[in-house]
Amino acid sequence: MTDLGSRGGADRIRAAAGEVAQASRAGVRSTDEAASFPAAALQAMRDTGLLGLMVPEEYGGLGGGIDDLIETNITLARVDLSVAMILAMHCQQAAALVRYAGPRLRAELLPEIAAGRRYLASVTTEAGKGGRLLTSDAALTERAGRLALDRNAPIVTGGLHADGFLITMQAPGAVHSGQVSLVYAHREQLELAEYGTWQPLGMRASHSVGLRLRGELPADQVVGEHGGFHTVAVTLFAPLAHLGWSACWLGTAAGALSRTLRELRVRDRAAGGGILGSDLLLVRLATARRLLDSVHALLAHTSRIVQATEDLSAPSAQLLINALKVTAAEDCYRAVDILVEAVGMRDGYLKDSPTGLEQALRDLRSASLNYHNDRILLADGKLVFLDPEVSFPGLRGTPSAKAGARA
Ligand SMILES: Cc1cc2nc3c(=O)[nH]c(=O)nc-3n(C[C@H](O)[C@H](O)[C@H](O)COP(=O)(O)OP(=O)(O)OC[C@H]3O[C@@H](n4cnc5c(N)ncnc54)[C@H](O)[C@@H]3O)c2cc1C
Repeated sequence: MTDLGSRGGADRIRAAAGEVAQASRAGVRSTDEAASFPAAALQAMRDTGLLGLMVPEEYGGLGGGIDDLIETNITLARVDLSVAMILAMHCQQAAALVRYAGPRLRAELLPEIAAGRRYLASVTTEAGKGGRLLTSDAALTERAGRLALDRNAPIVTGGLHADGFLITMQAPGAVHSGQVSLVYAHREQLELAEYGTWQPLGMRASHSVGLRLRGELPADQVVGEHGGFHTVAVTLFAPLAHLGWSACWLGTAAGALSRTLRELRVRDRAAGGGILGSDLLLVRLATARRLLDSVHALLAHTSRIVQATEDLSAPSAQLLINALKVTAAEDCYRAVDILVEAVGMRDGYLKDSPTGLEQALRDLRSASLNYHNDRILLADGKLVFLDPEVSFPGLRGTPSAKAGARA
């Protein structure tokens, strides 16, 4: 994915991320309480240009790359995981348009995203097939050069606030559900009907509602080739999702550890010392920190490999990208769970503790489900046989990866 190195102004991106984090801080408790969308944070993303993070500068965007995305996600997720995931998913969609949209769609859409006028939602999950990414049961139909779609989408983060949608659909005339096209639709091109309720354990501010989407699109709003979503997924969607989400989960766990350390110092001072002398406490804090440092190391390594590798379909590259997602999902949750054990009831379990551990734990519980770890491990179980020499991408002295296999 060699076109996703940073080309933009890191300082502008950092400043924008700081402003959005500030706007998120004010609403984090109330949006969680009400399970409502963080409208003020989205407005700040529009106003600061952060929605254009992955849009090249020639279209008015910030020209960021993967490392900017990771840093921004960590910054936002320290404050609010829902806000960070909203941006991470939008950026994944924007990057797909940058690389795979046709010239007319790119010219129309990228300046709009950069100007903060198009926030993008993702529609891949479908009732019936669940999270299976590479299939779709709903077929596109082609009529007089236009594409008609009718699609149920049981969980769409920010769906009621989005200005555009990237949607997986069965290609027109497909003979099996694995022939999937990715299409872009403006909100104005769709009729949206909300269904179900949104009352989850965590990630409540992601406001990931169920939608039925119906509409007609110009034929050139296919992103990539018809039936070619597999390529988009393997080369861009999955790597950016796993890197972006993992950064979000790491940010939330890092924020939780940082607030816990601060609170422990306050309590220790108030008690006249003694609290920080507990061996059990110190071992638990060290374990949480070790988990976060190892997730960070895997994230940084995977980012480097993804940016340096032309063919991400090689089994060893796919296995690494999947390992990051599964490891980050498990270990960031585990680190916060350990912190709850470390500080106990008052600062670990009650909603109003300044540590925020209660919300962090609920939010991070979604990580293994957000593209289910079981599905990833099942794919990995097949991939391991395609790399029988057990090669490691980017490491000298190991057998090189074999290209061409699929997850
Ligand atoms: C906070 C949040 C936000 C989300 N936002 C969006 C969004 O904006 N757009 C979107 O499209 N989706 C979104 N999703 C959905 C997400 O991408 C997954 O599709 C969904 O979480 C998976 O649901 P599931 O746990 O029921 O797993 P599924 O993947 O549906 O699996 C259901 C069960 O089957 C098991 N299973 C695993 N692998 C297999 C297999 N190969 N065959 C059979 N069974 C298997 C699993 O263990 C699981 O228990 C979001 C999810 C979360 C948690």
